[in-house]
Amino acid sequence: MVFSLSEKLWAEAQQLFPGGVNSPVRSFKSVGGIPFYVSRAKGSKLFDVDGNSYTDYVCSWGALIHGHAHPAVVRSIGETLQDGTSFGANSPLEIKLAQLIRSAMPSIEKIRFVNSGTEACMSAIRIARGFSGREKIIKFEGCYHGHSDSLLVKAGSGALTTGVPDSSGVPSCLSSLTVVLPWNDKPTLLEAFKKYGKETAAVILEPIPANCGLIPPTEGFLECLLSTAKQYGTLVIFDEVITGFRLAMGGAQELFGIQPDLTVLGKIIGGGLPVGAVGGKKEIMDCLSPVGTVYQAGTLSGNPLAMAAGIAQLEQIKKLPTYSQLETLGRQLEAAIEDIQKKLSIPLQFHRFGSMFSFFFTPKKVLSSADAYGVDKKRFSHFFTSLLHSGIFLPPSPYETAFLSTAHSESDIDELAKIVYDTLKKIT
Ligand code: PMP
Repeated sequence: MVFSLSEKLWAEAQQLFPGGVNSPVRSFKSVGGIPFYVSRAKGSKLFDVDGNSYTDYVCSWGALIHGHAHPAVVRSIGETLQDGTSFGANSPLEIKLAQLIRSAMPSIEKIRFVNSGTEACMSAIRIARGFSGREKIIKFEGCYHGHSDSLLVKAGSGALTTGVPDSSGVPSCLSSLTVVLPWNDKPTLLEAFKKYGKETAAVILEPIPANCGLIPPTEGFLECLLSTAKQYGTLVIFDEVITGFRLAMGGAQELFGIQPDLTVLGKIIGGGLPVGAVGGKKEIMDCLSPVGTVYQAGTLSGNPLAMAAGIAQLEQIKKLPTYSQLETLGRQLEAAIEDIQKKLSIPLQFHRFGSMFSFFFTPKKVLSSADAYGVDKKRFSHFFTSLLHSGIFLPPSPYETAFLSTAHSESDIDELAKIVYDTLKKIT
């Protein structure tokens, strides 16, 4: 593969952006090498400026459940665009997307749209604090809830990948209000609630953490968390920025049969345009201005193009047998990886949940972020680079999750399995 135009752009970008990028993980810092520059994308494929193509398992970090440039999404954005890009006033599209979301997630009675998952998580925390009059929050190590001050404490995703899970620039008076607990550890959870429960406004979690690799909850952990939080009057916030509409129309909360107090959404509900949302029980959401005293606002919130893209993507989910199609592809991949593991003796844990998956290069089971920290990062870098040079784009970090879309085909998965096999044979 030749990367000469990407190399040229990368050199220019170094002069313009810190680390050459507008979001850290795009720098390929933890895997080495030069990041490629995308010229266009269609279905499951990305095409770079040098003419290389990749089967894409990043899918805009999970946002594109139907792959790139889906005709229904493109059409909807195009039609909406003819009537203007932003109104600074209400549009019916906001109501339509809100109704689609509410009918899929019964825990959401009222919702507010914002422009990113970060904003939505930040607002959810403020709502919980305003509602309860309490200041502390509980989060889990390795979970990522965007880059607002209170939540950049032992964070996953790019913060972990680039070695700054506790960002500098966050005032200690804020981070000291964030209690961080290990994932899947019931005794520590119970202990923490005993100590801090009565002062804690909310516990925020990814119900299936996907920002430290993919680490599903162990049996009974979520139920224990919910009943304990209830006992102490602590609100439960499900950050379903990734899992919302990815695993089921009703997200992880539908799968687990759990109703959180507040839910945070993003990614899929924006069809690839910038969006976020926080929703939940009416009496909690009504704390927001202009009804209540918790302030939150946004120039571009409820943007018509983002709403149109989200509506088209959600309607498309309903039209197709989306989740059974994704599960079939996921099973095909899992079976292929199991087969590879039998053939080659490699210290690899492969995790999959529906259309989400990740590779942990470690001989030990991975149940928490502490287990994930022990992965062989060098081996992951070789794995990533070798796959990339064979036309497969995985997330450029051992601490992220890969995604399938309905645009992926069985032959895409066969191709992936073959390249994974050839690569692992070389690097073991
Ligand atoms: N929550 C979760 C679970 C996420 O995965 C992310 C981003 N990947 C965010 C929040 C922040 O979303 P955004 O990047 O849109 O600010």
